[in-house]
Amino acid sequence: MENSAIQPCCDPIENPSVERVALANLPTEWGDFQIAGYRSLISKEEYVVLFKGEMNRETPTLVRIHSQCLTGDVFGSTKCDCGEQLHTTLQMIQQEGRGAIVYQQQEGRGIGILNKIRAYALQDQGADTVEANERLGLAVDLRDYQQCAEILFDLGLCNVKVISNNPLKLQALEDAGLKIVERVSIEVDSAEDAAGYLRTKKEKMGHLLELNRN
Ligand SMILES: [Zn+2]
Repeated sequence: MENSAIQPCCDPIENPSVERVALANLPTEWGDFQIAGYRSLISKEEYVVLFKGEMNRETPTLVRIHSQCLTGDVFGSTKCDCGEQLHTTLQMIQQEGRGAIVYQQQEGRGIGILNKIRAYALQDQGADTVEANERLGLAVDLRDYQQCAEILFDLGLCNVKVISNNPLKLQALEDAGLKIVERVSIEVDSAEDAAGYLRTKKEKMGHLLELNRN
């Protein structure tokens, strides 16, 4: 085994359920990235991944699965911390010179933008994010991260440093065979509006947040 040093350290995923469709350069205000588009072979779902630097299986690499949040990512909503998390992650990857963000287009944890606005209307009347979904008869979290893990693997990664507070995402990456060498917590300075939302994420959804800052 003279080439053992360059053997992949993860077992290849058999019969991956995603395929890469296109790859291009994407200069951003945080730095130059590459952008790749993937499609699911088992659903209509599409994924985008922004990455930077050489992707290889050995080097522990910053990764994040970011779930689309139109209100936070695009409109700068202060009801949640999604936009700040996305931008902080881009800065972290830019600084490190290497990393990848899988952008999962499952708005509102999979319920879709229209239901999310319905849920916001209930929150206007005092419900928290979990109660609002339950009142609308929607699951609290419909997301499936298996394909996000497959995309990271397809990019050429194995040892990952995951930027996430969500234990479900960490578990999904491990289940898909990626090796988590570190969990990088992300706590952005979120607006006061988001405080209740973050408390619900911590207390009802098991997110690993400190929430001890003012
Ligand atoms: Zn959000």
